[in-house]
Amino acid sequence: MPTSITKELDNSTYRLAVAQFDAAAEAMQLDPNLRERLKTPERSLIVSVPIRMDDGSVRVFTGYRVQHDSSRGPSKGGIRFHPDVNLGEVAALAMWMTWKCALAGLPYGGAKGGVQVAPERLSRAELQRLTRRYAAEIFPLIGPDKDVPAPDVGTNAQVMAWIMDTYSQQVGYVVPSVVTGKPLSVGGSLGREEATGRGVFYVTVEAMRHLGLDLQRATVVVQGFGNVGSNTARIMAEAGAKVVAVSDKSGGLYNAKGLDIPELLRRYRSDGHSLKATKMGDMITNEELLQLECAVLVPAALSEQITEKNAARLRCRVLAEGANGPTTLEADRILEEKGVFIIPDILANSGGVIVSYFEWVQDVQRFFWKEADIQQRLQEIITSAFQRTLHFSQAKKATMRMAALMSGIDQVAQAHLARGLYP
Ligand code: NAD
Repeated sequence: MPTSITKELDNSTYRLAVAQFDAAAEAMQLDPNLRERLKTPERSLIVSVPIRMDDGSVRVFTGYRVQHDSSRGPSKGGIRFHPDVNLGEVAALAMWMTWKCALAGLPYGGAKGGVQVAPERLSRAELQRLTRRYAAEIFPLIGPDKDVPAPDVGTNAQVMAWIMDTYSQQVGYVVPSVVTGKPLSVGGSLGREEATGRGVFYVTVEAMRHLGLDLQRATVVVQGFGNVGSNTARIMAEAGAKVVAVSDKSGGLYNAKGLDIPELLRRYRSDGHSLKATKMGDMITNEELLQLECAVLVPAALSEQITEKNAARLRCRVLAEGANGPTTLEADRILEEKGVFIIPDILANSGGVIVSYFEWVQDVQRFFWKEADIQQRLQEIITSAFQRTLHFSQAKKATMRMAALMSGIDQVAQAHLARGLYP
């Protein structure tokens, strides 16, 4: 029984999240009353964010914060600065956060936020004013026990520090635990910057082992060279894998002999983030990159990159979804027929929120952990989530995506049933 979608939320990413939810809810015979509650976000806030530009003019940007579910704890989710951000996309990402936190066993619900802006077009001063005004506008919703933001596309540790400072100025004392992904100097955690990429690596090792393959001799292709993509590429290469191609929004860089990722990162950062200027391989399009022959393909950019149009042409054995929602449902079916092993987004990229949880715990306790402890605990949690999902998928004859969704949704459903419906 597919559920309807309210007009305000309707867009392709939200339709994808709801279609996935409907399929999982149907397979698990979820109570219809719960289905309606779980597909609709608890709270959606739209704010206008006026800022003074450096030339003296005032521009108004649109911002969002959506809390999808808070039955299991404070809601948690990143903040995206990107020109295409809209309410439906933010709501979809918030819903995926709910299932992701539940699947990993973290005591959080799901949320997401964003501002419709191209951050690279702003000066540093404009970006700071935008971030602070956005933080002030969503202030009523966020807090360490309410809703805890983190970085996502187009935001980073500096943006989190400004949000933490704005919140702290409003309440009159320092509150590091209001956001995660902060710099170390203001309560950030060791290992958070690379956490999503490290998590992608851990689950890929598990998937390869399950398939009887060895990551050390494998070729890897990564779409997106930001936080998730660059750290995934670096950690895979450190483990001995041959990373033959990476890309950003300008296109892909391909080298059949394997890219020297530390050197590539050094040149990329010093050459104004141009893959072409690094001269370390041939330039290809993002579409060509997705179709390269490889053992592991890691989409780590935006959603809906692998669709019914290109899925049949993919030539990877494992698809490790670093990005959120990179694969449409039609593409899922095609990839399943081709025998591609998918590590679904809510499992593959959960390393970020797992270490965000560690950061929040450390901030609340004012007691900080060693990096080795963080890596070890991350590996334990994400590997055990992978194994549980794999066993569930084998027992229920479900795909890895459906198994991950059903496990996450089941945790949330149990919380709702235990708490009941207020009033
Ligand atoms: P980022 O802003 O650091 O990097 C995004 C990268 O994608 C950049 O290299 C950009 O050039 C590239 N890109 C943008 N449009 C592209 C296109 N059309 N084709 C190819 N590349 C394109 O963002 P990020 O934090 O690395 O996030 C990437 C993905 O991972 C997103 O889907 C995000 O939701 C997801 N994710 C991020 C985290 C995290 O901790 N940052 C955690 C879980 C999931």
